[in-house]
Amino acid sequence: MTDRTATCLCGACHIKLDKITQTALCHCTTCRKRTGSAFAMIATIPTEAFHLQRGEPQNEKTATGSGTIHYCADCRCTLWAEFSFMPSAKFVRAGMIDGEDAFELLEAKPVFEVFTKRRPHWWCAVEGATQMEEGYQMPKA
Ligand SMILES: [Zn+2]
Ligand SMILES: [Zn+2]
Repeated sequence: MTDRTATCLCGACHIKLDKITQTALCHCTTCRKRTGSAFAMIATIPTEAFHLQRGEPQNEKTATGSGTIHYCADCRCTLWAEFSFMPSAKFVRAGMIDGEDAFELLEAKPVFEVFTKRRPHWWCAVEGATQMEEGYQMPKA
């Protein structure tokens, strides 16, 4: 796909994304708190396609300690997370990707959902997306 940028609300942080691999929805309680919404939409970006070009985001460990969350020091928007067990990718909050058409991209349609047991009963599953009741499970070979 064509190049995209991801920026925080105030614009201090600017990330160039050469490629978006896929997106997913997370219904966990931490994502609820971090987003202030019912779920988070997260885009997987290969590490080599992720370029922080402006800004000096702050970071903190995730609740489980396995990852690091990066957020803008000025507007406090969460930008991305990374995990020690998956160094090949960065997980960008999809809403930070610029362009009104960003969610219309083919690769923007969520391919899986995690923690679906916490999804509200009035919200439907994304058609065709793999459903996982708990956290991410590697697909069975
Ligand atoms: Zn900002
Ligand atoms: Zn989550």
